[in-house]
Amino acid sequence: MITVSMVSPPPNPLLTISPSLLISPPSGTQRLLLSTSHRASKVTHIVTAPPDLAGVSGLILTKSGVSPDGSITLLDETEYTKKYLEVSRPYSYRPQFTMTIEGASDPVTIPLHQPASCTLTIIPLSDSARPTKKQKIAAAPSAFEIVSKLIRIEGSTPGTFDRKAALALGVPVGPLFGKLVKGETIVTPAGDEVKPSQCMGEPAVWRVGIVFVLSSEDFERLPKDVTYDFVYFQSTSEVLDSSSFKDWWSGLKRGSKKGHFIKYDASKPKGTYISNSSAKLIYKLSLISPRHFRVPNCVANCFEEVDYQLTPVNKKGLVKSKSTDIIPNMYGLSVEDKAEVEEDLAKRGFEEAAQAQVMKNDTNPNKQPEIVFLGTGSSIPSKHRNVTSTYINYGRNSLLLDCGENSITQLKCMFSNVEDYVASLLSIKLVWISHPHADHLLGINEFILERRRVGGHNKEKVYIIAPETVLPSVKFFLGEEEGGEGVVVMLDCREFLDGIPDGGLAEELGEVGVTKFQSLYVDHCRNSYGVVLTCEHWGTIAFSGDCRPSRKFLNFKADILIHEATFEDDLEDEAIVKKHSTIGEAVGIGKGMECKYIVLSHFSQRYPGFPRGVPKYDNVIVAWDWMRLTWETMQSATGLGGVMELMFEDEDKKEGEGNDRILEGEDEIGGVKVSEIMKEPGGFAVKGVIDGGCGGVE
Ligand SMILES: [Zn+2]
Repeated sequence: MITVSMVSPPPNPLLTISPSLLISPPSGTQRLLLSTSHRASKVTHIVTAPPDLAGVSGLILTKSGVSPDGSITLLDETEYTKKYLEVSRPYSYRPQFTMTIEGASDPVTIPLHQPASCTLTIIPLSDSARPTKKQKIAAAPSAFEIVSKLIRIEGSTPGTFDRKAALALGVPVGPLFGKLVKGETIVTPAGDEVKPSQCMGEPAVWRVGIVFVLSSEDFERLPKDVTYDFVYFQSTSEVLDSSSFKDWWSGLKRGSKKGHFIKYDASKPKGTYISNSSAKLIYKLSLISPRHFRVPNCVANCFEEVDYQLTPVNKKGLVKSKSTDIIPNMYGLSVEDKAEVEEDLAKRGFEEAAQAQVMKNDTNPNKQPEIVFLGTGSSIPSKHRNVTSTYINYGRNSLLLDCGENSITQLKCMFSNVEDYVASLLSIKLVWISHPHADHLLGINEFILERRRVGGHNKEKVYIIAPETVLPSVKFFLGEEEGGEGVVVMLDCREFLDGIPDGGLAEELGEVGVTKFQSLYVDHCRNSYGVVLTCEHWGTIAFSGDCRPSRKFLNFKADILIHEATFEDDLEDEAIVKKHSTIGEAVGIGKGMECKYIVLSHFSQRYPGFPRGVPKYDNVIVAWDWMRLTWETMQSATGLGGVMELMFEDEDKKEGEGNDRILEGEDEIGGVKVSEIMKEPGGFAVKGVIDGGCGGVE
């Protein structure tokens, strides 16, 4: 079966044609895939959508974790994408994995479920889609500035198998049926040859047009007289409101009675997406502890056809079929879903918590500074935990400790209205990246794009402090216009090894409320750092990044330690191999630093529910995505561990099923243990970019 499905994260939705082909995957695509029947491991071709390429990186890393010597082909000939792959090399190296980048101005054949295939052609509609070798890397385009193009996809799927006809031809029930369906000619036990065409119905032919248009001028270049079964048209209000577009749209020829045509205005603000299961969970948590979890109230402003999934049916073309698990945002929870959550809580003895619903109205009335966990998982995003990021608001200003893929969307999910989101985004004055592993930094791309999209890029100064191998990516995302000068200040973590370096920086950071800032080398991969900082309101906060427990932290006292706790205590050996910490080790460091509170985060995705063995420690808080802490709610948060452990009793079994298996330390890739490979950050095996010159094919 082939499906064309659409899900809707901003600013552009992801389209998939069968599990093998993804079109314009944005940041957060992996989490979307987790909520659908798609698997990263099945993806073979991606039509990229610069400038947001973090989703592509994340997918490739996840697929390479599942099939280390697999491959992915990027269909995109822009210099921007090639350059992106070059700069992301230091944190994306997978030695056996093959990445090919090629244009698709000539039709490219894409395998679907056997024996089906389709051909895809990209027809550029704007001049910038045809870069010359001499052309400089474009200054980073705006969030909506996807190069105008028509992606034309044509394919056919075999007709249905006529069982009666096969039996009449002497084909016995059994494996020969399967061979015929796969398009093979077979010989019956009686010695007669039977061709598939003798017992298969008419194939279904289908045509898909996916159009990204930036300007009216580009729209005029669109080939007009084409018949489609499915059209997805993304543009701006300027184009969509024009009379020439309206004429074309109303005159579109439908290849079948049930042609599906969807238009999408990328210039309008969008809501965020969250899977239905996450929405239920956050609702549940908000009932259990409204002080630490809140369901925001913003109005969904997404795409109307959020869960379009189309199946080609013989002679009918593409037909809308079952919907997916994706809803526009958490406010889409139905009355039934809410009732189910409440019932579940009552069954488990949480009636009182459910009654706390009276407190549901969810504001932070005094606008107290909050620490909010945007991602608390390690390695790859899972259904309930995004990859690492912690947002610390300390009054007028905020900072981010690490920024994994999709962190900014997670931030957006916290707010009830666009104004609050924008204010919070622009309040971020400092971003700290602890080490060059993708799960801690891919969100930088989205952070820079979103600042630009909301118009804050040339107003609000921000310090990005990162390991030296990450800074070239940051500079690239900023593009030539900003070039890292002035508004965005890029600094190397090493510069802070003895505290804030001399020369004006202490004063500048003091202006944004940070009075002490010190990096520490920690034992993880090359260029890994922890940090101890002092900011307004919170006092001294220490953050471990990823590491084995480090005695260097014991030279400091801190009010709050946020420490990675990837493994439960019984997996200390594994923690040593993978250079991570156990819960007990993390708590030990916090006690040594005489912290008031120790917050554990960065849990292995092997604990999709709740890690065990936490409640026996005092003053320990187990972080969860979207958990909010103020000084007033810290103490009560320490008591949440036991409650959540109970609540997640069954969750581990339920959630672990069906996800792509990720290779672990003892697994081998090309004779080398994964644990060894993970020590060294590197780059993709980018055929055609790194190895074979631009645009080459493997
Ligand atoms: Zn790491």
